[in-house]
Amino acid sequence: MTVPDTASTTHARLLIVGPQGSGKGTQGIVVADAFGIPQVATGDIFRANVSGGTPLGKRVQAIIEAGDLVPDELTSELVRDRLGQPDAAAGFLLDGYPRNRGQVADLDAFLAGRGEALDAVIELAVPRAESIARLTQRAIEQGRTDDTEEVISNRLAIYERETAPILDGYRARGLVVRIDGVGTLAQVTERIFAALAVRGMVPAHPGAA
Ligand code: ADP
Repeated sequence: MTVPDTASTTHARLLIVGPQGSGKGTQGIVVADAFGIPQVATGDIFRANVSGGTPLGKRVQAIIEAGDLVPDELTSELVRDRLGQPDAAAGFLLDGYPRNRGQVADLDAFLAGRGEALDAVIELAVPRAESIARLTQRAIEQGRTDDTEEVISNRLAIYERETAPILDGYRARGLVVRIDGVGTLAQVTERIFAALAVRGMVPAHPGAA
């Protein structure tokens, strides 16, 4: 029996892209829960490895503390492993990956090999000054080792130089939904769901939102 394609989306392969401090981590979890898909945040995975003292953690610790990018080869391998797990079969929300053109190519090749493609790229737009203000606040509250002023400015510079340009490529493919990231968390969440709904993507578990 074929199940009719009703309002709810059967799969959701999403990226969330935005500068540091844009709130993409928080919004990403809400969106992933609503769609019943795992949120895969490369920064979180790296940090867990650093605090767990794993071989991967030891390899990437200094890079992360400087706010530099972990080599593409290592990062893409990590993502392929994670997306190969059963819970990602029906979709995923990637946060913090891809972060440059090389990683975009790696992800495209991986998905193409599985006969899959991205459904949408959520761009969370916040002005630079807002981003810096939020990161400074987070530094006070959470004390992340890569939230010092110097490292923050390195991470933002890398975002502007390497990550923001990948949005042009995704825009050319018609995948980008641009969301104004300034507002309360609930307002921004609402904007994301409204923009995805316009593209026919309605979460199966909206109650999670
Ligand atoms: P933020 O986006 O606020 O800098 P993340 O948690 O996304 O924080 O990433 C923290 C760090 O983890 C990055 O500064 C970088 O060193 C590393 N990292 C995360 N994702 C990637 C990636 N896709 N490619 C390379 N390095 C990454």
